[in-house]
Amino acid sequence: MSEEKRQVEKIRKAFEQEFGRFSDLNLENLSLDEAENLQRELGELKTKHTGKKSELAVSKKLIGRVAPEERGAFGQFVQSIEKEITTVIEEAENNLKNFIANAKIERERFDVTLPGTRPREGHLHLLTILRQKIEDIFVAMGYSIEDDREIETDYYNFDALNIPAGHPARESQDTFYTTNGFALRSQTSTVQIRAMERRGVPIRIIAPGRVFRRDTPDLTHTPMFHQIEGLCVDKNITMAHLKGTVGEWLRRLFGKETRIRLRPSYFPFTEPSAEFDFSCFKCGGTGTFENERCRPCKGSGWIELGGSGMVHPNVLRACNVDPQVYSGFAFGFGLERMCSLMYSLDDIRLMFENDVRFLEQFK
Ligand SMILES: [Zn+2]
Repeated sequence: MSEEKRQVEKIRKAFEQEFGRFSDLNLENLSLDEAENLQRELGELKTKHTGKKSELAVSKKLIGRVAPEERGAFGQFVQSIEKEITTVIEEAENNLKNFIANAKIERERFDVTLPGTRPREGHLHLLTILRQKIEDIFVAMGYSIEDDREIETDYYNFDALNIPAGHPARESQDTFYTTNGFALRSQTSTVQIRAMERRGVPIRIIAPGRVFRRDTPDLTHTPMFHQIEGLCVDKNITMAHLKGTVGEWLRRLFGKETRIRLRPSYFPFTEPSAEFDFSCFKCGGTGTFENERCRPCKGSGWIELGGSGMVHPNVLRACNVDPQVYSGFAFGFGLERMCSLMYSLDDIRLMFENDVRFLEQFK
């Protein structure tokens, strides 16, 4: 073998040694990153062994130095080596390229048939649902909704509502006191005073909100509950307006056949005062439902709902409204009581225990 041929043989050996790790590459255990690194290294190897400055390229100049009779054979030899090198590199390149392309597709693929994680859907609390229904009815009747503070002074919770210190009504409305003369409001009637002070009269509002009493929790009592208070003050407002308004609201909530009745009563902030009842939504006022004593009305046909009356002149005076010119009515009732009647709940504490199994029944 001529000296030139040996030199080319050496070049091939050097290539084979470096290329060794690519010749029987086990692609199966490669990560995408590893494959991409190998692809880059293979590119560098290709430039080194087949590029313009490669030893192989340089060796082609040897062709001219070989004796003329051997020149043809030697030329073919160099070419065959070159072809051999470029073929194995190309093959390895293609394998890596295909592997990388597939790995990328695999990485971006997601299985549309896998079950998704369904978000747990929430819904409004049953008290909120009922409150909003009632609010909608009153807004449609021209009332606006008032909200105010839950921590009050003695003045707004009692004095301005014609319940002076020592009045027995203070006892039945005993609430929670803070150390610096404030108390949690025991009724939403406080909003009447604040709204009249702020807006003046005439006024038509309802005030839904939380109230507090020092009661021991039992089937029908909780120390925190909700009231909705209504107030209408204008010239020439009479008891007839009260009856008409309360009746219309309950008819819109429970149906056209609903009747109401007023029973004389006493509240310090209204005079005259009346409790209002409405004909039972379940038995229609007959007292029997499916041949049995009707539950919500206890067989009486009537459901007691709340208190009402004509706003006491002292309350109007406390808000700088002249009782000689203006008159008005007010009413209030407990939302929990109404809710437990409507949904036949035996225990109002259920509404505050946050047991989802209970709450989910009322959407
Ligand atoms: Zn009934």
